[in-house]
Amino acid sequence: MPEGDTVHILAEYLGSALGGGLLTRAHVRGQVWRGLCGRRIQGVCSKGKHLYLELDGGLCLRSHLGLYGSWHRYRLGEPWRKPERQAALVLELEDWVYVCFNAREVELVRSTGFESQDQRRRLGPDLTRENPEAELIRGRALSLNAPDTPVVDLLLDQRVACGIGNVYKSEVLFLTRRPPLLTLETLSLGDFADLYGTAARLLRRNLAGGPRITREIPDGRGPLWVYGRAGLPCLVCATPLRRERLGRNPRSTYWCPVCQGPASPE
Ligand SMILES: [Zn+2]
Repeated sequence: MPEGDTVHILAEYLGSALGGGLLTRAHVRGQVWRGLCGRRIQGVCSKGKHLYLELDGGLCLRSHLGLYGSWHRYRLGEPWRKPERQAALVLELEDWVYVCFNAREVELVRSTGFESQDQRRRLGPDLTRENPEAELIRGRALSLNAPDTPVVDLLLDQRVACGIGNVYKSEVLFLTRRPPLLTLETLSLGDFADLYGTAARLLRRNLAGGPRITREIPDGRGPLWVYGRAGLPCLVCATPLRRERLGRNPRSTYWCPVCQGPASPE
């Protein structure tokens, strides 16, 4: 599942592979975009889970992988490992083809124009790059969300801070021992520092690639504390872990009913 760390690594890889390259063909969802041919890719960067390919002439291709997106690289003429109809974005450069399959969003924006600026401004600080002040995060959280917003939704709100996906959401709540349905209005500045500081630390810990690790104990019991472990014993207290679709946009949440308490704190 692509989260902020995955997209950060991807941007670095694509930046070194594509930076300076000349586009010979570009398709977006099966349509040829002639205006992109002959443009040079100036660089690739990420913010949260959004990837930006900067092109010359002030254009920028923004993409978001969503839950199922992935990038592949092929030699020109080499068969693809996924069907063509799943290709959201196809970029041809001399001998290579870069294909982004099943992206949730692809759009062309002006690098300096209103749309792109506005889009990036809407995203909160990128936790793969910085550990922002708790005061700043709390300010964004309160100005963008109702006071009774559950923390499971808050952590996934990329406008507050970006980079946290569904895996880190459960891991951060377990590591900070917070119940998943704690509400925004009850969070102190210390809670914000703890939650977002932990998320920033985990995301940055995983920027080198390889399997995602939130638990660095080499006992063969896995690299994650709770995610994907419903019904298995908690690695701290041995109570069976719970999984439920929680929040206003219900997504799977894993937690320990003893270490973190019941989903909704009494
Ligand atoms: Zn436990």
